[in-house]
Amino acid sequence: MTTQLQMIHLTEADFEKWERGVLSPAQTEAFLSHTASCAYCGDAWLAHMSRTPETLIEPPAYLADEIMQRVRQPDVVIAQKAHTTSKRMRLFLYSLKVGMALAASIYTIFAMDTAALGQIMNLFR
Ligand SMILES: [Zn+2]
Repeated sequence: MTTQLQMIHLTEADFEKWERGVLSPAQTEAFLSHTASCAYCGDAWLAHMSRTPETLIEPPAYLADEIMQRVRQPDVVIAQKAHTTSKRMRLFLYSLKVGMALAASIYTIFAMDTAALGQIMNLFR
């Protein structure tokens, strides 16, 4: 593994180093941040782990219940709602910008006098 993990994809050798636990803390951080942000390497790591299921540890039985309790708590629900709302707001603002640009373009075309339009049309001949 190199120090430029953000630039290149991980290899089978990197996954094997991870399994053997020989990565330094900095390499471990780079490994995890890369697999979290790169869909290609995330899929490759999952495929690697699927080929070696003996390395996977069974999750404790109580974990699913704990996760479900946690996602129903008010702070998590509020954070999720805020995220969804901000997504809608971004879509609304984007739509508004596109609408304004379209209106400005249409206005510009109709505001031109015939001489200016004739000059523009001559450019395309
Ligand atoms: Zn990658």
